[in-house]
Amino acid sequence: MTSAGRFAPSPSGELHVGNLRTAMLAWLFAKSTGRDFLLRVEDLDRARSGAETGQLRDLQAVGVSWDAAVVRQTERTALYQDAIAHLEAEGRTYECFCTRKEIQEAPSAPHAPLGAYPGTCRRLTKAEREIRRASRPASIRLRSDVTEWAVEDGLHGRYVGVVDDFVLRRNDGVTAYNLAVVVDDAAQGIDQVVRGEDLLPSTPRQAYLANLLGLPTSEFAHVPLVVNHDGARLAKRDGAVTLADLAAVGLSAERVRDLILESLGLPPGPLPSALGEFAPDLLPRQAWVWKTPVS
Ligand code: GLU
Repeated sequence: MTSAGRFAPSPSGELHVGNLRTAMLAWLFAKSTGRDFLLRVEDLDRARSGAETGQLRDLQAVGVSWDAAVVRQTERTALYQDAIAHLEAEGRTYECFCTRKEIQEAPSAPHAPLGAYPGTCRRLTKAEREIRRASRPASIRLRSDVTEWAVEDGLHGRYVGVVDDFVLRRNDGVTAYNLAVVVDDAAQGIDQVVRGEDLLPSTPRQAYLANLLGLPTSEFAHVPLVVNHDGARLAKRDGAVTLADLAAVGLSAERVRDLILESLGLPPGPLPSALGEFAPDLLPRQAWVWKTPVS
């Protein structure tokens, strides 16, 4: 199997300049290391009709290309079921009946890291489980043996983060992001994960899960986000932030691409022409504060 990088958007709406910048970076990381580049639509949750088409069009407009057919998570549920069945067979899962409120109100387990699932359902007896099943469908959680796990990140170095008994399958039957992402990255031959810094805290859980499933861990690079003038992660409400919004104020997709390249210290022009000067070590490590430029 080839080695590959990827971009994995959730088709919940239009991509904004922050998403486009992350995608361009993922492409540059992959291509500068001789990898293929793949696109995976993470449509298990929050999918909005028509969003995928717009996202793919906008990625192409800023020069992000991919080397194989687009993969959609909703078409891959059998793979996720197999992985969960494998963990179940090893006694590494349990049913959880907790509501969000119950989790918030439960006293946290001794030594448990902040925000970790308190383990309420881990110790249910068979009889207790049967009673709960009658009133509420169960989610499936991982029975973790560790409370933290270390990963190596190309931009952040060694990063240690929380691993709790996180959800593998939600109680509505939908596969959880952490499980799907691990299964898909391995199945697609992805060995380089470049994504926004906001996902760094999920990475130890994913690397631990990959380890339990006997899957290789990717190389990671969590890249700085684009933020608004208040320092908050860029969102649709921050004015003209999508290619459509920016076109309406007179900025072409090429111009937006060039602004993004400039923010990365790279020359303007088609994406491949930036490859010669692309070096992860030279990337800015601070968030990029987005100001809608005057055309
Ligand atoms: N689908 C996730 C998102 O759009 C990204 C997942 C990933 O890159 O691992 O936030």
